[in-house]
Amino acid sequence: MTTFHIITVLPELFEPYLGESILGRAIKSKLVRVKIYDLRSFTRDKHRKVDDKPYGGGPGMIISVEPLVQTLRKILKGKSKNKIKIVITAPAGRQFSNKTAQSLASRYKDIVIIAGRYEGLDERIIKILKSKNGFGAGVEEVSVGPYVLTGGELPALVIIDAVARHIDGVLGKAESLEEKRLGVGVPVYTRPENFKFLGRDYKVPSVLLSGNHRRIEIWRRENRKTG
Ligand code: SAM
Repeated sequence: MTTFHIITVLPELFEPYLGESILGRAIKSKLVRVKIYDLRSFTRDKHRKVDDKPYGGGPGMIISVEPLVQTLRKILKGKSKNKIKIVITAPAGRQFSNKTAQSLASRYKDIVIIAGRYEGLDERIIKILKSKNGFGAGVEEVSVGPYVLTGGELPALVIIDAVARHIDGVLGKAESLEEKRLGVGVPVYTRPENFKFLGRDYKVPSVLLSGNHRRIEIWRRENRKTG
């Protein structure tokens, strides 16, 4: 079983998405586990404050290093470090891809995802994680795309979703084989055969109705959309 550990200041955002559909089923059948850590529970501050003003001035607040260290301590305690990957969500991180998702799924049992907020994390958490006397687990800053979001919760869900699809048993056998065989971006159609809209006919390509599997496969390969 692969366990995702999410560190966040907005824990309630995750459940609705994770409870549904393919991910919901994967969690129920114990192929995947998701543990959410509310950063506010790891602060010594009596007001559960997790952020503070930036040194050097500037707008926005920064997530403090102390509660992050305490949360990571709790997560990593007693775990074999070479099976753990720590992913820090960051707009300037390495571009997340299907290849990264596949490699995370096959190499790690525990994937820790830090969802930032505000103006990001105190840089020292990255220094600590990358240093020899840090936590000993691999760490990487990862971006889910060339844009800036208000927080790392959506990126964390994107990463969980994309990684989970590569875990054995999460997708139906047929679905995952079909995607491996043909790749992504194959145009798909369902009933009706002809959809009339504003006086025009939108027909399903006739080859898909032909029953000729060889021709269908060739058509699918030839019509695959590539980014
Ligand atoms: N100025 C900050 C910076 O350059 O990192 C922007 C921080 S952003 C408003 C707040 C948080 O959202 C980040 O710490 C990160 O966790 C998350 N985030 C925003 N865009 C992201 C992206 N494209 N990929 C991954 N995480 C992102």
